[in-house]
Amino acid sequence: MNPARGSLLGIEHLEAAEILRLLKFARRMNPAKPRPLLKGSRVFLLFYEASTRTRCSFEVAAKSLGAYTVLVQSSGSSIEKGESLLDTGHTLRAAGADIIVIRHPNAGAPWLMAQHLDIPVINAGDGMHEHPSQALLDAYTILRHKKTFKGLQVAIIGDIFHSRVARSSCHLLSKFGVKIILCGPPELAPEIATTLAPGVRVTRHIEDALRSTDVIMLLRVQSERLAGMKIDLADYIARYQMTAARLKLAKKDAIVMHPGPIIRGLELTSEVADGAQSLIVEEVRHGVPVRMAILARAIGKMR
Ligand code: ASP
Repeated sequence: MNPARGSLLGIEHLEAAEILRLLKFARRMNPAKPRPLLKGSRVFLLFYEASTRTRCSFEVAAKSLGAYTVLVQSSGSSIEKGESLLDTGHTLRAAGADIIVIRHPNAGAPWLMAQHLDIPVINAGDGMHEHPSQALLDAYTILRHKKTFKGLQVAIIGDIFHSRVARSSCHLLSKFGVKIILCGPPELAPEIATTLAPGVRVTRHIEDALRSTDVIMLLRVQSERLAGMKIDLADYIARYQMTAARLKLAKKDAIVMHPGPIIRGLELTSEVADGAQSLIVEEVRHGVPVRMAILARAIGKMR
């Protein structure tokens, strides 16, 4: 069965023209000027994992378009009693959902739901697979600052292996010919990642990743994961932490991005996080218009 029209399940199979259409439409969306494109619709936010930015901004986006939202979290719902994913989906549909936004720890969960329901399903992050709305808001942020993808070089630094953000961003940026350099120790940035998308290469040396780079995307690093992989935390920080001194190795006008949550003192210093080149807060702000566009597209109103 094909997923319901309007679903957004990943970036990998989205055409470049459709991505540009979405980003262009997002520029017309402004939460301060609500538009009733979704008036009377019900957007169900089904979150099986923790979230701050994604959940809040989908909620603000839906409400800014005149929809009302229902939040369902795994704790406190029948999911805790062992209800299956599809049974939960059918239940939400029966309760009146017009769109389901889902975050799930298992890759493919949104696909499964979209194949069995007749309403659009939006992937808000599935396991280590994809996080399409984050990649789109990051692309939107890049274009606001760099105007074009042409000739850009992006360095993605940190735990690439576990990151659905890295995966979606690699798919998106490579569709526009962006040069992508993945940087980290072999456990977090394995060589196989070069097969993810055209134009991707891997380096172990942050100096190499930063040279001539326009965009620096940092990823969250979980210290428990480092310990589990026998990577020494102090050694990681010494080799890969983004510091003000290292930032100088990139282009003068390089921008620093991070999908959040940031761990100050681990993947970056506070000086970088709060510095003039950091767009970390701006990314969150852009999440709202971009998610408004995603929701409008879901019900065929992206015109
Ligand atoms: N917030 C992003 C995600 O849910 C990044 C992260 O958690 O590290 O994938």
